[in-house]
Amino acid sequence: MLRVIGCITQQHDLRLVVLAACICILACVTTLTLVARAQISRPRSSLIWLLGAAIVFGCGVWSLHFIAMLAFMPGLPIAYNLKTTFISAGIASLGAFLALAVWKNWQPRAVGIGLGGSLLGLAVSAMHYCGVAAMQVPGRLRLDGPDVAVSILISMGFAIMALARATDLRSLWRRIEASGWLALCICGLHFTAMTALTIELGAPPSQEGAVVGSGALAVAVGSVSLAILVLSLAATVMEQHLSQRAVLELKRMRLLSDVSQEVLIIHRGGTILQANTAGGRMFGVPAGQLVGRALPDLFAEADRPVVIRREHLRQEDLKRDEVQVRTTTGALIPVELSSSTIDYEGRPATVVALHDLSDRKRNEERIRHLAHHDALTDLPNRFLLQERLTQALGAAARSPATTVALLYIDLDRFKAVNDLMGHTAGDALLIHVAERLRAELRPTDTLARVGGDEFVIITSAIDQPGKVAILAGRLIETLTHPFDLDAHPVEIGASVGIALYPGDGDTQEQLIQAADTALYRAKQDQRGTFRFFEPAMNEHLHARRKLEQDLRGAIERGELQLHYQPLVSCSTGEVDGFEALVRWNHQDRGVIPPMEFIPLAEESGQIVRIGRWVIETACDAAARWQSSGCVAVNVSPVQFRQSDLPGTVAAALSRSGLSPDRLEIEITEGVLMEDTKRALDVLSALRRLGVRIALDDFGTGYSSLSYLRSFTFDKLKIDKSFIKGLGQGDDATLIVRTIIGLAHNLGLTIAAEGVETAQQLATIREMMCDQVQGYLLGRPMQMDGPIELAAIRARAAIFAPPSMTSDRYAEQVMSA
Ligand code: C2E
Ligand code: MG
Ligand code: MG
Repeated sequence: MLRVIGCITQQHDLRLVVLAACICILACVTTLTLVARAQISRPRSSLIWLLGAAIVFGCGVWSLHFIAMLAFMPGLPIAYNLKTTFISAGIASLGAFLALAVWKNWQPRAVGIGLGGSLLGLAVSAMHYCGVAAMQVPGRLRLDGPDVAVSILISMGFAIMALARATDLRSLWRRIEASGWLALCICGLHFTAMTALTIELGAPPSQEGAVVGSGALAVAVGSVSLAILVLSLAATVMEQHLSQRAVLELKRMRLLSDVSQEVLIIHRGGTILQANTAGGRMFGVPAGQLVGRALPDLFAEADRPVVIRREHLRQEDLKRDEVQVRTTTGALIPVELSSSTIDYEGRPATVVALHDLSDRKRNEERIRHLAHHDALTDLPNRFLLQERLTQALGAAARSPATTVALLYIDLDRFKAVNDLMGHTAGDALLIHVAERLRAELRPTDTLARVGGDEFVIITSAIDQPGKVAILAGRLIETLTHPFDLDAHPVEIGASVGIALYPGDGDTQEQLIQAADTALYRAKQDQRGTFRFFEPAMNEHLHARRKLEQDLRGAIERGELQLHYQPLVSCSTGEVDGFEALVRWNHQDRGVIPPMEFIPLAEESGQIVRIGRWVIETACDAAARWQSSGCVAVNVSPVQFRQSDLPGTVAAALSRSGLSPDRLEIEITEGVLMEDTKRALDVLSALRRLGVRIALDDFGTGYSSLSYLRSFTFDKLKIDKSFIKGLGQGDDATLIVRTIIGLAHNLGLTIAAEGVETAQQLATIREMMCDQVQGYLLGRPMQMDGPIELAAIRARAAIFAPPSMTSDRYAEQVMSA
């Protein structure tokens, strides 16, 4: 050490030594500035920056060497071989480039720093000893081996230190520190190496090749130094400019990432380097607090391997993953995770994007719920019912002890509530019904709404039909209690059809079908009851379906016919008119009575077409009759509701030319029971056309007097069941007498239907009935040809009481 200091102070011009040191430091700072830039550039441009750094470094080392050589005052004239001098400069630059490239590639690993540093030290040493070899002095140059080795080791040691500290050159201080180590590497080598040099005076130098003297060398070194100065200045300006640009770019990027709703996290090796504001929001901490944390810790335990695995996937294999993050409160949030590799501050890092799926999941859940539930009652709908039934059947198939019962419920009189009180009340009623039914079931049972007023229940593990029957009875019972709709008590009822697995079917379709069939039968037999499915019900149903199909073309095939039954005046015995009664002459089954096919036509909606045909055919026929008698036509409640009856009647009248007062429309109470307001409107419209209106089958329905008050009918027809009971000792006689009295008091014509015996006729006439109809007076018959009205009149006269003429009879009616 003392020898080195002695060499510097005694054998060198100190002013030049200081200058050499300054140039050396300047070169080192410039070199590291360029290295810093290389560190944050993309791989390609990074190499260019490294090359620049290596050239500046090489030139710096070279300048230092030769300025220091100029400062060397051995007291002898020194010249330099030009070629070797240039080669020394090349060695410095190339060696430095190789060293930096190796270091950059392997940093921050120790092997990279060690190898790079060693190479750099060797490059500096090689340059120096090559420069020494270029010296031409009058004598022999001798190098001391151990000193040379020490000088090389010193150079390598300081170079390793410099590169170790240069791994992060973001701060200015770090750059200055690393520059210091580099300068020590160069100066240390130079001055240690100079102590190893001895000039043995003797023979004059061999003048091989071109040689420059110290003066020319001073010019060359001065030029290179100037170039280093200029380069330093340029590098600093450029560095500043690029840094500013980078800062601006970073700011812009941060702004962009902060306004993004998506969470963006940059990490390297699982350690978070950066997170945007959305990240802070998601995890419930300021974004800055996420920096430095381990990325996998932010995720649910089960998803951590996914997050770690992703980092090692190739870019093209990175698909989106659905994972859950854990917030600081411990809540789990579903997110979609995607990631990609980016260049972050000169080194590769991974940016992870997290897209919050909570809303999407909630919406999906809502849509799924809506798709499987009824919007009004929130009960499972038909799809979910089928799904649950399939599950229940699967479970039952696996454990043979389990049975499944399917209960199909249909509300009675629901339509009337809907029509009379409006849809809002109907909706409220359905919600109440759903609540009551649910209250009767176990949590494991499924209650579904499958139609307007139809509900289905799946109940498993009820092993005896008896228990199912008890449940069905309970369900019916609970629905018979009045419902309170806006302080209006509403009474409905329910019918239930039951199918059991495995007896009534193996598949869900078969079971639903069986329960539906049983329900149909329950409604047919008696509303407000339940029926278990029986195979015979299916046969019955199939027969009905077949008949329903056959009925479709009956009009076109001419299979429908009208028969006419006389309506005879009790006072005159004359035929007042005829009631048109439809018959279906089925091609295979012969004549089918209306009681059998009219309900079918009503269910399938065919009644509208058939009813129109009846009205038109009856009007046409009556218009052709020679007598001025009226024709009575029956109208079904369904036809009344579903068609434009006044329009049909008006068209039939105008087409046939029949006078409206010759047409009588017979309705039953069923017409008035549902949507009374609309029914009354239609009745009034018919009345305005001039047709008469009769209330048929009086006494069989509700026989509500309010109907008689709400509309003034022209005629009441007492049902034949009462006429049959006349004189049989029950109340029928009294009832008939009362109805006749009531009708007369209201100013209505009263007719009795189903008069079969002379006794019945006599009794009826005695009671002052106005009109009679029955087999006694004439059966329904075809009226294609002229009819024997006179014969009918004669028959009526036969049964008049001998003591009373028909005129007298009529007088009595008038005075009653
Ligand atoms: P309804 O309107 O009360 O017709 C009277 C029914 O009593 C007729 O039965 C008639 O044949 C029957 N009848 C008449 N006199 C006697 C008698 O002395 N004894 C007995 N036992 N029965 C008698 P039909 O023709 O079978 O019609 C039954 C019901 O079918 C009718 O009852 C009516 O409600 C309905 N109907 C008939 N034709 C039509 C139609 O064109 N349209 C509609 N909507 N319904 C019709
Ligand atoms: Mg009738
Ligand atoms: Mg009748």
